[in-house]
Amino acid sequence: MPRYYVNNETTYSGDHIVHVEGCEHMPPKGKCTCLGDYSNCFDAVREAGKLFPRPNGCPHCARLSHVDAD
Ligand SMILES: [Zn+2]
Repeated sequence: MPRYYVNNETTYSGDHIVHVEGCEHMPPKGKCTCLGDYSNCFDAVREAGKLFPRPNGCPHCARLSHVDAD
């Protein structure tokens, strides 16, 4: 199962983006928190929601759980 990370910092729209490990858009370790291994990005985003109020899937590596700000 892939390992997921959540960005500790928000995007301009206030989202904490969840990435699969190795995504080129993932922030450096130290600026993100490991969520653990999940079979799908929805579970990872749900886990991120326990840490941050507005988790969102990365539009590149977790596209299925990405919600557009608009
Ligand atoms: Zn990503």
